Amino acid sequence: MTRRVIGRVVEGGTLLPPFTDAHVHLGLVDATALLPHGIAAVHDLGWVPDVAATWARDAEYSGLPEVAFAGAFLTAPGGYPSDRSWAPHGSVAEVSSPDQAVAAVDRQLAAGASFVKVALNSEAGPLPDDVTLAAIVARAHERGRDVVAHAEGPGQVARAFEAGVDRLAHAPFSERLPDDLILAMARPGPHPRAEHDAACGRARPEGRNAPGNDPQVVIGTVPVSRTTWVSTLDIHGWGTPTPAQDVAIDNVRRFAAAGGTVVYGTDLGNGPLPVGVNERELRALTAAGFGPEALVRALTSTTSSNSTRPANSTRPAASTRPAGSTRPAASTLPVTSALPAEHDLEDGTSRGTTARSCSAERVTFVPGAQPDDPDDLPRWLAGASTLHLDDVLRPGFTPPSGTTTRKDQP
Ligand SMILES: [Zn+2]
Repeated sequence: MTRRVIGRVVEGGTLLPPFTDAHVHLGLVDATALLPHGIAAVHDLGWVPDVAATWARDAEYSGLPEVAFAGAFLTAPGGYPSDRSWAPHGSVAEVSSPDQAVAAVDRQLAAGASFVKVALNSEAGPLPDDVTLAAIVARAHERGRDVVAHAEGPGQVARAFEAGVDRLAHAPFSERLPDDLILAMARPGPHPRAEHDAACGRARPEGRNAPGNDPQVVIGTVPVSRTTWVSTLDIHGWGTPTPAQDVAIDNVRRFAAAGGTVVYGTDLGNGPLPVGVNERELRALTAAGFGPEALVRALTSTTSSNSTRPANSTRPAASTRPAGSTRPAASTLPVTSALPAEHDLEDGTSRGTTARSCSAERVTFVPGAQPDDPDDLPRWLAGASTLHLDDVLRPGFTPPSGTTTRKDQP
C-alpha cells in the first residue's frame, strides 16, 4: 500500500497550512510558546474583552499567534463561570433579559470580538432563559457574527442547536446524543454559503451581513455542518481516559461520519495541557476515526483551501472541508496555491485553485519524515512549529532543530 503524502515535503520536513487552536484562554497560559510549537492562530473563547483586544491588536509584535476572540462569557446572573477563580473581573457578562443580551453582545463587538460566547452549563448555576438566549443569537447574527456555546448538562446541546448556536466550544460530553440530533447538527446550514471575500477568495457563510466588511473571523464556511464542534477531547482526563471522554469520542465519531465539522481545539488554559499542538488531542481524534487528512483539516480549520467539493461528492462526511476566515492576517495563506498541487492535503490531486494575492505569512513546518503508521501521526504533528513561508522557501533554509522535543509534553 502506498502511503499518502500530506502537505508539501521539503528539506527536513513537511509544510502544511497554519494550524489553529479554536478554543483557548490566552490569559491563563504563556501564549508566546504557541508559535514555536505549531499554533499559528487561536480563538480565545472567554476573557476580559479589552484585554483580549490588546492581544489581537498586538499579536504580530508580541510573539503571539493571530488572535480572534469572543470577549466576555455571556451567562445568567450567577451562572457559569461567574464563580470561578480563574475568571477575572470583567470576563463574565451576566444577562437576564433580551435587552441586556443585546447590550452585552454589542459591548463585545465594540471591543473587537469576532464572535460571542454563551455559557449553557446546567451543572454549575443558573442558565440564560430561552428568550435571552434567542436574543443573544439573533443580535450576533444580525451583526454578522457567530455564536459559540459552552453546552454542558443533559439537554443543553439540543437547546443550543435549537437556538441557532453556530459552534459548540466542546464536543458534547455530558450525554450520548441521539442520532437524530447528531444528524440534524451535521447537516449543512439552511442557506447557500457561497459569498466570497473578494480580497482573499475565501468563502463566507450565509446571511451574515458584515457592516463595513469588518475583518471578523467567520467560524463556519462552505461546505460546513450547521453546527460545528470544537474537539477539546483531552480536557477529559489529560491523558487518563474518563467516561466523559468516551462519551465525547463516541459523539464525535458519529457526528463526523454524518458529515459534521469538527475543528481542533484544546481549551488551552484548562488544566495541564501543552502550549502548542497537543498530541493527546490528536490521538483522541484518531480514536474517533480521524485519518491523516481529517486530522490536518481539523487543525487547519481557518486556513484550509477555499475550494469546494464537487456537488455530487459522496465522500464521507468527516472529509467535509471546514475553513474560511475573512480575517486579512496570518490565516490568509493561500495554501493550496502556495503548495504544489501534487501534494495536496486532500487526495494528492490538484483542485485547480488559482493563486490569490493574499500575503503568505505563516506556514506550519513539521520536522522529520512523515510516519508510515497513521498511529504515529499525532506525535509527528505535535512536533510542528510555525514559520514564515518566505523563510522556508529561501534558498539554504535550515529547519529549526529541537522542535520535536517538548518539555511540557512527554
Ligand atoms: Zn474554555
